[in-house]
Amino acid sequence: MKRFDSGSKPRFRFMEGRYGADALGRFLSVSGCVIMLLAVIFRSVWNGILSNLFVSLALLCLILCYGRVLSRNISARQKENDRYLQKEHAVYDWFALKRDCFVQRRDYAFFRCPGCGRTVRVPKGKGRIRITCRHCGFSFEKKT
Ligand SMILES: [Zn+2]
Repeated sequence: MKRFDSGSKPRFRFMEGRYGADALGRFLSVSGCVIMLLAVIFRSVWNGILSNLFVSLALLCLILCYGRVLSRNISARQKENDRYLQKEHAVYDWFALKRDCFVQRRDYAFFRCPGCGRTVRVPKGKGRIRITCRHCGFSFEKKT
């Protein structure tokens, strides 16, 4: 004989067909908490105007976060999350590039390719050389 657990059923049904949490949701909830903390730290700046601004921004983040969690339009939320993940990757890549440039700064010079805008790495101390970008093939001269 199968018994129904009526105590926990409604809770599960409430989330049925709803989107739930994802990377963008976590980012929004963490941002909301951090901004709320800033509101507390800056509560005496500009007669509390800055603090009020932070509280409003934090509430916006949290409302967006829970609105997305409870949303039934799953495909739209997935697209938002994909766009967010692309931006997050771009930020991580940028920091990784800056770190690499810093670590290798003694042996290599880094230039931005005028053709495609990507960073090109060449050995240092070779004088004026012609650099050919390996991404787009654009050629330019630089002093290393
Ligand atoms: Zn290029």
